[in-house]
Amino acid sequence: MAEKLIIAEKSAQAAALKNGDSAFLAGGTEINRLDSSIDVSTLISIGRIAELDGITEIEEEGRSYVRIGSMCTFQDIIDYPTVPGYLKDACRFMASRTKRNMATIGGNIALRRTDSYLYPTLIACHAKLEFIDGNGEADKRCVNCYLKRYDELKDKLIVAVLVPVDIEVVSKRYSNTAQSHAVLTISMGFRDGKINLGVAAKSTALVNLKEISEALEKKSLSDAEILKMVSENKELDFKQDIFGSPEYKRYLLSVTIADLAKKVKGGKR
Ligand SMILES: Cc1cc2nc3c(=O)[nH]c(=O)nc-3n(C[C@H](O)[C@H](O)[C@H](O)COP(=O)(O)OP(=O)(O)OC[C@H]3O[C@@H](n4cnc5c(N)ncnc54)[C@H](O)[C@@H]3O)c2cc1C
Repeated sequence: MAEKLIIAEKSAQAAALKNGDSAFLAGGTEINRLDSSIDVSTLISIGRIAELDGITEIEEEGRSYVRIGSMCTFQDIIDYPTVPGYLKDACRFMASRTKRNMATIGGNIALRRTDSYLYPTLIACHAKLEFIDGNGEADKRCVNCYLKRYDELKDKLIVAVLVPVDIEVVSKRYSNTAQSHAVLTISMGFRDGKINLGVAAKSTALVNLKEISEALEKKSLSDAEILKMVSENKELDFKQDIFGSPEYKRYLLSVTIADLAKKVKGGKR
C-alpha cells in the first residue's frame, strides 16, 4: 500500500520522480482496485499535468495522425469526433461506462495485459508513443518497440499516443460476456495492400504476427495454412485453462484471421 502521494505539475517532474518503487497515478482503476497488481510506496499523480491532456490532429512524415494525450480516458476517446472509428471500437471493449470514465489510455498501455482491450488495435495500426524520461528528454517509439524494449522504457512517462487516420483496422474480441476477460482479441490493419496483425492472447502474449501478415499480403491462405503458421509461432504458446485447450485457441485464432482478411481485402467491413 502506497504511503506517499506526490502531485506532479509537469511531465518532466513526474518522470524524474519515477523509480522501481513508485507508480504514476492516472485513472487509478488498477492502482486503487482490490488486489491490485501494483505495490509501490509512492504514487505520482499525473492528473493535473496539462501536457498529458487533449486530442489534436497532426501531420507527421506526410501522414495524418490523431494525437491523444495519455491522460485521456476511454470515454474521452469515444466522444472525440475525429478519433478513428477503429480506436473507438477498441475502447468500447471496456464495457463499463463508469470504468471508461476513469481508465486512461496511458495507464492501459503501461499495464501490457495479455487480455488488453487496446494493444491488438494499436499494434495493427502502427501506433506511436511519445515519452519523456527523468532527464526531461522526449522520445518517440512504435508500440511494438515499447513491448519489445519494455525493461528499458518502463520508467518513462507516456505523454501521448499517435494513431494514423488513413488505415483500416478490423477487430474481433472473444469473451463470455462483454464484461468478462477476453481469451483472444485480434486486430488486422490494412493500408496500401499491407496487412498488420495484432493479437492479445490471454495469459500467453501480446504479439505482432508479421509472418502471417506478409503471407496474407501475397495471397489468400486457407484456414489450414493459417492454422499451421499459428501452430508454428513460438510466442503463441497457448496453455489449457478455463477458456479452453491450446488446440481450440489456435483454431479460433486461425479462422478469425481468415475472416478478418476476407473483410479487409474484400472491403466487407
Ligand atoms: C475489474 C477490472 C477488469 C479489467 N479488465 C481489463 C481487460 O479485460 N482488459 C484490459 O485491457 N484492461 C482491463 N482492466 C484494466 C483497466 O483497463 C486498467 O485498470 C486501466 O486501463 C488502467 O488505466 P488507469 O488510468 O486507471 O491506470 P492506473 O491504475 O492509474 O495506473 C496503472 C499503471 O499504469 C502506469 N501508468 C499510468 N499512466 C501512465 C503513463 N502516462 N505513462 C506510463 N505509465 C503509466 C502506472 O504507473 C501504473 O503502473 C480491468 C480493470 C478492472 C478494475
